[in-house]
Amino acid sequence: MDKVCAIFGGSRGLGRAVAQLMAQKGYRLAIIARNLEVAKAAAGDLGGGHLAFSCDVTKEQDVQNTFEEMEKNLGPVSFLVNAAGINRDSLLVRTKTEDMLSQLHTNLLGPMLTCKAAMKTMIQQQRGSIVNIGSIVGLKGNAGQSAYSASKGGLVGFSRALAKEVARKKIKVNVVAPGFIHTDMTKDLKEENLKKTIPLGRFGEPIEVAHAVVFLLESPYVTGHVLVVDGGLQLTM
Ligand code: NDP
Repeated sequence: MDKVCAIFGGSRGLGRAVAQLMAQKGYRLAIIARNLEVAKAAAGDLGGGHLAFSCDVTKEQDVQNTFEEMEKNLGPVSFLVNAAGINRDSLLVRTKTEDMLSQLHTNLLGPMLTCKAAMKTMIQQQRGSIVNIGSIVGLKGNAGQSAYSASKGGLVGFSRALAKEVARKKIKVNVVAPGFIHTDMTKDLKEENLKKTIPLGRFGEPIEVAHAVVFLLESPYVTGHVLVVDGGLQLTM
């Protein structure tokens, strides 16, 4: 049977690196993002057999339709990676409610909706492995990122609860919590200052996170785990 994996946020950054690694390992991939052209280009770069879909993870109907389309074209989705995410950094007193909501909706509600949509097939098949991308700030908190930290902390609670709910159906749910990684999301940060706080002395590369994601996706006896990939940053936070 084909190993089919849906990667939300697979068009850029961490999700794209996961897609590149999984394509090399023989998975058939659905690359999903709002911008279909960018998702198509990312899927095309992986070689044949992979498909791109446009979907906004904050919209339940959109997510359900995407799962129907994916399963029609690729077959049952047994692997799911939630790498779609946004940040709107600012101190709480300056954060607009709409920015709080957009982060909670994309980073927390989005994975809840994709996991829910994935359950039907995974439960039927008694088989499934999910990795949600959290963040070290969801565990430690960070000034200027209260809403983002809340969304990522919530994602840990959600993932651990779901792991308990579906373990008997042989479905695993894990979290990877990265530190600072070179992607579009971090391109405007002051790396020279920030890297002094990282024990390994540098930002990470997307492929370094991708290896952790694939490790958890493929680990048959690990569920409800949070794997930190941060160059030791948590030791200093
Ligand atoms: P990027 O900004 O590079 O990529 C984000 C991806 O998410 C894109 O594919 C984007 O495509 C997609 N996306 C954003 N919003 C939506 C939406 N509403 N619906 C569907 N897709 C969406 O981010 P990163 O790769 O850096 O981040 C990936 C994940 O890792 C995020 O959850 C982020 O919070 C987390 N993370 C990143 C860290 C870092 O240092 N880079 C550190 C810790 C965690 P499009 O815009 O076309 O929709």
